[in-house]
Amino acid sequence: MSDVLIIGLIVAGYILITWLFSLLGNFREIGSRRLFIISLFLTPVMGLAFLLSSQERKIIPYTEKSYKCERCGYIFSESYPHCPFCLKEGFEVALKPVNKFMT
Ligand SMILES: [Zn+2]
Repeated sequence: MSDVLIIGLIVAGYILITWLFSLLGNFREIGSRRLFIISLFLTPVMGLAFLLSSQERKIIPYTEKSYKCERCGYIFSESYPHCPFCLKEGFEVALKPVNKFMT
């Protein structure tokens, strides 16, 4: 066997192991593609550190029903008929329901 072939096999094996390892990223926030790139260039040891520090992927993004005042921009967690802050200033501003994404 020539040296080039051995190096080629090591590289191919390394990429294969890295690819298999990167599949774990599918279950995490980091994602398999990013994990593959990190592992390939920074070794799978670093990839593992990134994998463990990354949050488990949330299937359903958690949204919170909120109500926003278009005038002052304040976001309330409860619904009011009018923005209490603007009401104090003499403005009757209806709150607009918004979905606030929690990350
Ligand atoms: Zn307001």
